[in-house]
Amino acid sequence: MATKIAVPIAAGNLDQARQQIKTAESSGAEMLELRTDYLENLSVDLVKSLIAEARAATLAPLPIIVTCRDIRQGGAIDYPGRLRIEVLTEALKAGVEFIDLEYENFLSSENQERIRRAMSQASKGRLILSTHNFETKFPNIVKLHRHIQTLYPAAIPKLVYKANHINDCFEAFDLLHKTSGERIVFCMGQVGVISRIIAKKLNSFVTFASIDDKNATAPGQLTIEQLKTIYRWDSIDADTKLYGVIGSPVGHSISPVVHNACFAEAGENKLYLPLLVEGGRDEFDYFLRQIFIKNWLGFRGLSVTIPHKENALNFVKENHGVVEPLAEKIGAVNTIIVGPNDILFAYNTDYSAAMDAIGSKVDLKNLPAAVIGAGGVAKAIVAGLSQAGAKVTIYNRTIERGEKLAAEFGCEFAPLDNLANLEAKLVINCTSIGMYPNIDETPVPGDYLKKDMVVFDTIYNPPRTLLLKQAEEKGAQTIEGLLMFIGQAAAQFKLFTGKAPDTKLMRKTILNYL
Ligand code: NAP
Repeated sequence: MATKIAVPIAAGNLDQARQQIKTAESSGAEMLELRTDYLENLSVDLVKSLIAEARAATLAPLPIIVTCRDIRQGGAIDYPGRLRIEVLTEALKAGVEFIDLEYENFLSSENQERIRRAMSQASKGRLILSTHNFETKFPNIVKLHRHIQTLYPAAIPKLVYKANHINDCFEAFDLLHKTSGERIVFCMGQVGVISRIIAKKLNSFVTFASIDDKNATAPGQLTIEQLKTIYRWDSIDADTKLYGVIGSPVGHSISPVVHNACFAEAGENKLYLPLLVEGGRDEFDYFLRQIFIKNWLGFRGLSVTIPHKENALNFVKENHGVVEPLAEKIGAVNTIIVGPNDILFAYNTDYSAAMDAIGSKVDLKNLPAAVIGAGGVAKAIVAGLSQAGAKVTIYNRTIERGEKLAAEFGCEFAPLDNLANLEAKLVINCTSIGMYPNIDETPVPGDYLKKDMVVFDTIYNPPRTLLLKQAEEKGAQTIEGLLMFIGQAAAQFKLFTGKAPDTKLMRKTILNYL
């Protein structure tokens, strides 16, 4: 049976609950979780009314989970243990499909006896035995899962823990992979988001999604709309191939929105995820080793962004992969593909996308060019400009980094203060100055810009940065970072699918999203 989306109804009273249930149903909820611990003045009668509301409010009856969460396991209001158990036993009598009780509370003989008796008397209704760790991983999730199964074999075990690093998610994935039947396993927290999405690929019994950001009942819970529209929920199955962008941060990345829209349009059974890999080389290498060893996860390609582009190059080289010569020369990889026989291939699509964007406006031979910044993107662009014969000066905040890049490609270097004497005909911003939310900042004061310049800002959010607006006011030609972004994403899509993407759809998707 395919994984269902359960939407928590976390309301203080019946009026609020009615609204939430309507919204959940119209957003595509496949199950409702009535979080009765959110109800003010909780009583058995109130819960019965809530169940009746849920039945009456939906056109087709949605399966209902009744939960009265203990505050020690993430509950909202601290109700007495006896009342919480009574809520569950009465919900069973009222005919709900599922009740959810904390495994730790089921261990008490009194609670266990009451629940077992109610279960045996109920005409229907299943027990979910859940356990949560809001701090970190469980010491031994396999053993814990086995305990729950042994204690009550007909129960649906639910094991949820906070992932403090994306690498913590692998234990949840392993458990889903190695077990079958009905079980619910996922990770909380920002890095746990992917576990809520690929729960469907790994056949978890349900995933939980909120009706909106305000009503999330656990950290990292996505909205049902995000799950369905960005993360292609309805088309995920066991064969779905996984892709994603590795970086830190990645929360702001528009790559998932863009690639998933293009996968959908091209009819590809592929899903693109945000992969927040914090830390350095060790954490990056561990993450990549895990996703490639666990080939049942189905990862076939990756985009790589700050700060892992160099780590990606080293990983592919050390794992006997094939690195495109230009990516090797630039020293940065932004795309990894798993090719035939699981051989890794590494590329840099930033380079060609930037050069295409610039080449459409100017002839680079002997052109004086100013590159501001000396990071990964600057390096790709400096490599391209040098190869095309431009006379490049690099301006950078950190002098050693700027000088190093200049020496590598035989260019000039100048500190940022020297921008006052800017004589270049091509000016390229390769820093994050002016990027959302700091949209009132610019790397080059407007007074330094001239009519005969071509100004390229690699930033794409916002599409028209202050730098570009001021350049336009001076009558200069401008190039948007969006052009480069679409170019590099289109090249990645081709590597991921072998097909050319619809770049108009890419542009439209990005602009709608931004
Ligand atoms: P990176 O490797 O981290 O390099 C960032 C550069 O920006 C460094 O030179 C850094 O100077 C400089 N910088 C950052 N904040 C600064 C500040 N407040 N003042 C002065 N200098 C500052 O990043 P990257 O991968 O090269 O990416 C740079 C930018 O490119 C991103 O912000 C993004 O908007 C854009 N980008 C665009 C595309 C696209 O497709 N359009 C793709 C990727 C990236 P220091 O050396 O002194 O630290």
